[in-house]
This record gives sequence, structure tokens and C-alpha cells, in this order.
Amino acid sequence: MPRGSWAFTFLVFRSTVVGVTRDQLLDLYRRSGALLDGHFRLTSGLHSSGYLQCALVLQYPQHAETLGRALADLSRGLNPTVVLSPALGGVVIGQEVGRALGVRAMFAERQDGALALRRGFTVAPGDRILVVEDVLTTGGSTRETMQVARAAGGHVVGAAAIVNRSGTVPQFDVPFVALLEVALPTYEPADCPLCAKGLPVVKPGSRQVTV
Ligand code: ZN
Repeated sequence: MPRGSWAFTFLVFRSTVVGVTRDQLLDLYRRSGALLDGHFRLTSGLHSSGYLQCALVLQYPQHAETLGRALADLSRGLNPTVVLSPALGGVVIGQEVGRALGVRAMFAERQDGALALRRGFTVAPGDRILVVEDVLTTGGSTRETMQVARAAGGHVVGAAAIVNRSGTVPQFDVPFVALLEVALPTYEPADCPLCAKGLPVVKPGSRQVTV
């Protein structure tokens, strides 16, 4: 199917995801402390005006199930036969998407720095693989997971994430869907406009103020 027509289908589907609107998702993330506004120093050392941690939403199984069903609704038309997720972040949501689609859910994990299928997971020739992540930041781990799927003999039919925080439409060679688009700009500390305003910077997950 041409990308254009699929994108149109995606928009139609988005407006009819049962029970989950964008505002409800944002509210869920904020109530779970998974999406914070402020001035944060990320693990990478960069500063940001927003902090996102999907695990804080997914720790509630009923929310994980709801999000999994919503992503499954967006992806069902691709007819996936396997969900493959990068560990650790993609494992919980991948499991829920697989449950909602009624297909296997597997994960790839790092071994010597590279993602690989372990634990006896196998892909059958002709398997139609949907790659599922919690957050798409650069798209790097989704791309790497696609490579794992193809190297194992699978046919990648699409990619999905709960949140796209890249600020752009990722350029994959398969359709991509996300439930929530959140632009969270990051800054080098020396160029951070929040630092320039003199706002104290906070390390996410703690109340300790660092400078
Ligand atoms: Zn700053």
C-alpha cells in the first residue's frame, strides 16, 4: 500500500481509537508523574524543559493494557504475526500489543553492545513483524530492532511507539504510528535558555537540585 494512503488511514484510525484521546493520554502521563514540565538534567548530560518516563505509566497494568490495545488498533491493518521490541523499554508495551493482536511478543536485548534475539526466540520465514517501543527518541533502537528482525528472516511490516518525542516524523521504510506526539527540546548546558533564566536544574527522579 502506498505510504500516502496508509497515512490517511492512520489519521482516520487515530480519531477512532476506542477510549483514548490525546488529552486523556497527556493527563494519564502527567498524573503518573511520567511527563514533567520544568528544567531537567538528563542522563545524557543535556538539559530539557520536559521529562518523560513511560515506565511510570506502564507500572499500572491496566494502563499498559489500554495503551497496548490502542497501538494494536492502529497497527492491526498491517496484519503482523509477531511483535518484536527492544529491551528493556519496549518489553511491557510489546507484550500488551501482542496480547491485543493475539500474536507472539518477543524482545531483542543487548549482547556485547548490539541488539540480538536470545532465549530461543525465533522468527519463521514469512513472519510479519511489528516493532514496538515505548518512546521513540531518535529512532535508532527501532531501526536496530528492524535489522534484527530482517536478519532473522522476518518481514518488517511497521513500527509503533506510545510516544514520539523526536519532534519529527521518523523516516522509516515502513509505516510508523504513535499515540502521542510530544516535542521535548534538549539543550547543551552552555546553550540552555532555562539556565540563562537562572532556573535551578533538577535531575529527574530526585528532588535534589543540582547546578
Ligand atoms: Zn539548563
